[in-house]
Amino acid sequence: MKVTVTDDCISCGACESICDAVFSIEDKAVVNEAAVAGNEDCVKEAADACPVSAIVVE
Ligand code: SF4
Repeated sequence: MKVTVTDDCISCGACESICDAVFSIEDKAVVNEAAVAGNEDCVKEAADACPVSAIVVE
């Protein structure tokens, strides 16, 4: 699973709240790629919850 955050991110913090092992908020959300394996379920949940659909899961 490859996870990226687009420039549409508005730094709302929702993804970090849902899946803080993978997402952290700096200027915008950043992905800890090493933590994606094993956290796929909350990554998908965060992607669904993102208000601007900025989380791309491939
Ligand atoms: S939920 Fe979406 S808009 Fe909010 S911080 Fe995460 S990537 Fe950015």
